[in-house]
Amino acid sequence: MTDSKKKALKSIDDIAGIITELSDNIFDHPETGYTEKISAQLQIDVLKKLGFTVTEKLAGIPTAFSGRYGNGKPVIGILGEFDALSGLSQEPGCAKQKAIVEGGNGHGCGHNLLGSASIAAAYAVKKYIDENGCSGTVIYYGCPAEEGGSGKGFMARDGVFDELDCAVTWHPGDTNSVSPGSSLANIVVRYHFSGVSAHAAGAPHLGRSALDAVTLMNTGVQFLREHVIQEARIHYAVTNTGGISPNVVQAEAEVLYMIRAPKINQVNEIYARVNDIAKGAALMTGTKMKSTFVKATSDLQPNRVIAELLQKNLEENTPPKATKEELAFAEELRKTFPVTGTSMKRYLSRLPEETAAKLRKHLDDAICDYVLPLINDETAMPGSTDVGDVSQVCPTAQISAATQVLDTPGHSWQLTAQGKSSRAHKSELYAGKVMAGTVIDLFNDAALVKAAKDEYDRRRDGVPFVSPIPKKTKPPVPGK
Ligand SMILES: [Zn+2]
Ligand SMILES: [Zn+2]
Repeated sequence: MTDSKKKALKSIDDIAGIITELSDNIFDHPETGYTEKISAQLQIDVLKKLGFTVTEKLAGIPTAFSGRYGNGKPVIGILGEFDALSGLSQEPGCAKQKAIVEGGNGHGCGHNLLGSASIAAAYAVKKYIDENGCSGTVIYYGCPAEEGGSGKGFMARDGVFDELDCAVTWHPGDTNSVSPGSSLANIVVRYHFSGVSAHAAGAPHLGRSALDAVTLMNTGVQFLREHVIQEARIHYAVTNTGGISPNVVQAEAEVLYMIRAPKINQVNEIYARVNDIAKGAALMTGTKMKSTFVKATSDLQPNRVIAELLQKNLEENTPPKATKEELAFAEELRKTFPVTGTSMKRYLSRLPEETAAKLRKHLDDAICDYVLPLINDETAMPGSTDVGDVSQVCPTAQISAATQVLDTPGHSWQLTAQGKSSRAHKSELYAGKVMAGTVIDLFNDAALVKAAKDEYDRRRDGVPFVSPIPKKTKPPVPGK
């Protein structure tokens, strides 16, 4: 590593207090998708204090913003998230389930750390620009509503990321590694049925049941499940049953569908068939059906050039070593996990045998405080992320940094419990250094940026990005 790069990365240590205070503050104000007013403002304040030019209300979303610094090419984006999850309130540092607010929100996906570390990364790049006077622009993107809101999807649809040459990001996790694979695309649609209410015993022939329509739709989709590709998933939730009185024919009912598959065009095919089933259910029951497109997420297009660069930077920086206290807390917390050992097993199963063999000794570890080798397997992870939409616009890759003990279940109180831990604090700074180092490398080597873009073009094969979200669909901002 050059001295100038080392010096820039070291600047993250100088603002460690600001960054950990920021992530702790966001932890203390857990806000769900599109309501992250305080979390956004806290970051905007820090960005301004650190000398970034802030633009607010990106894509017309009140809690989407950016912080920019530098001039000219390349233009590199660093993505951040900060939304919480409902029902995952949890006392930090407590190895037993104990909500701060019963039923309240909590950072059960670690996003309080996500945006904070990305701001740290942008700051180190800014320092590098200042010291070396190089050409290049770094933009931190504050992206709301990752959890079920596709914040980045709406931002990508409205062209927010169009100026980027490349983008990097990270996610709090239980390993220090590059996430090399794809992720599933999805579409979320609401199906509302309206019928006619009637006395269910006195005049059933006059009633047209919307709840029957929902039931028939669900039955139809159940039969469809056998006739879609293996990797597809069709989830649903009945969001309105039309009331609690069985002696009333339910005049209104609603079901929410989420369709997933490895590629967005596969999702679109299944979506068309689900629409037909909804129409059929309305026809069968004499009800009216109205569908509302809620949101969509593209599949993640991997980029090996950026992934390898992130791997180099993971290895150039030293991940924080686990302390005795951290290991003791980890052991305590792990007693509450349904299973342990699976996270590392899953990782090793995707490595060539000779590499995996050397790492088997780590199978029972409680904390990953080393860097795992880069996996050469792009199979889609069985979930979705709105980073997918950014990756369809420009070469994008991401890392995981071990803010959590191994095998921490996703979206769990155990994950929230670790959001203000010393591991979380140290690992967010580490993640910041790895991302900053990667951006600095891209600033210094135009050939790398070109290689990443060539790979992006090769993978797209001339097909331009088309957002899966229709133009008229508005982000589901409450009260708007
Ligand atoms: Zn999540
Ligand atoms: Zn997340």
